[in-house]
Amino acid sequence: MGYTVAIVGRPNVGKSTLFNRLLEQRKAIVDDTSGVTRDRQYGVTDWNGKVFNVIDTGGFVPDSDDIFETEIRKQVRIAMDEADALVFMADAATGITDLDTSMADLLRRTDKPVFLTVNKVDNNARLLDASEFYVMGFENIFFISSISGSGTGELLDAIAAGIPEEVSAEAVAEQQLPRFAIIGQPNVGKSSLLNALTGQDRTIVSDIAGTTRDTIHTHYKLFQKEFILIDTAGIRKKNKEKDDLEFYSVIRAIKAMDEADVCLLLLDAEKGITAQDVNIFSLASRKGKGIVILVNKWDLVEKSTYTARDYEKELQQRIAPFTDVPVIFISAKEKTRIHKAVETALDVYEHRSRRIPTSRLNEVMLKAIASYNPPVVRGNLIRIKYVTQLPTKTPAFAFFCNYPDEVKQPYRNYLENQLRAQFDFKGVPLKIFFRKK
Ligand code: GDP
Ligand code: GDP
Repeated sequence: MGYTVAIVGRPNVGKSTLFNRLLEQRKAIVDDTSGVTRDRQYGVTDWNGKVFNVIDTGGFVPDSDDIFETEIRKQVRIAMDEADALVFMADAATGITDLDTSMADLLRRTDKPVFLTVNKVDNNARLLDASEFYVMGFENIFFISSISGSGTGELLDAIAAGIPEEVSAEAVAEQQLPRFAIIGQPNVGKSSLLNALTGQDRTIVSDIAGTTRDTIHTHYKLFQKEFILIDTAGIRKKNKEKDDLEFYSVIRAIKAMDEADVCLLLLDAEKGITAQDVNIFSLASRKGKGIVILVNKWDLVEKSTYTARDYEKELQQRIAPFTDVPVIFISAKEKTRIHKAVETALDVYEHRSRRIPTSRLNEVMLKAIASYNPPVVRGNLIRIKYVTQLPTKTPAFAFFCNYPDEVKQPYRNYLENQLRAQFDFKGVPLKIFFRKK
């Protein structure tokens, strides 16, 4: 799992701002909307050669002070359990509040390092004000401005110094693991699948306000295989700013897709594949991601009238022309074939990593070309002399020939089908280029 640093603190002190700065990208939703829960944000960063995970425990804007206290306490407890070190953030602009004091009381009970970080120290006047935070009695205290980045270097130096070399190496190894994203529309069963796989509820979900959840990465082991599951359970329940949040959730799903090697696209067996599902499918395919289609809630389908084979055929018509994709019928609820789903995702990951030696590729493909030559275009005889796999993350092939622009789609399809027939690329989109020899 590596070393994990959690950022805790009451809302609006600047946790997300610091988190984004550490990750140098906008991962957290910075949203001032009242009644919105943000869940853990998770990312990997490095400093002074040490790699570690950062969790932003999120903010919670309360409807009532009591619920608020309870929720904040819950978050701090979870952070104290799960993290190896805590960045306890406060705000120089507001000074010490009651909530800061009660969080400090909780945090003093842990043996783990706590870095009291006073944020919004944007100038010298603020630095003077901020000295009041010494009374809290934490050994490690830092004065920073998350917006400008001043002081964050010292904070990171202190954090990195506490990370053992071997634990950092573990985090690096984790970065090499296959990454699977569970994607699909609301209510198809993404969380149910994740929970069925992990066997426990890993997400922090508040029952109180509207629940929003963002990308959560879970390091998972099955049959000695390790991988990272990216859950994009997304945002649900009513909210005034629903549209806005749904917009974010789509963006996040796309981001999760970007982070993933293989997408597990969940469909609802009863609803079948929708236009939106087809969009997601072709997006994943254009991005060169491996794809496994999981038809979930198969337990609800009347099997005698609607067999898997018919179902799969219909699916393939909708996703054509890229149909060489595994389809697994699962029930997250009854835990049917969910391990099969994961094994298949691992297979697709292997397929996507497949590198075919040039000699073998030419041996097979030149034979296929000889047995069915490209059609003559405008009197031009097209000769493909040589083929090589490009050193890209997702499989791509360059065919060298005399008239690269004259090779049309049907012949491209023929070559792709030959590649698929000869080498197993199930679940993986292939790119084919023609180049001038
Ligand atoms: P969170 O609720 O703790 O995650 O806080 P946010 O990161 O959402 O920040 C709350 C507000 O404080 C936002 O308007 C930020 O722009 C602002 N903020 C964050 N860091 C700084 C800082 O270093 N200086 C100033 N002046 N404002 C900051
Ligand atoms: P998410 O929005 O994609 O995360 O979907 P959830 O995991 O929250 O599931 C939405 C609803 O579908 C819940 O009521 C689940 O109990 C139900 N559900 C999920 N998977 C299955 C399944 O395999 N079979 C049946 N019958 N219901 C399921």
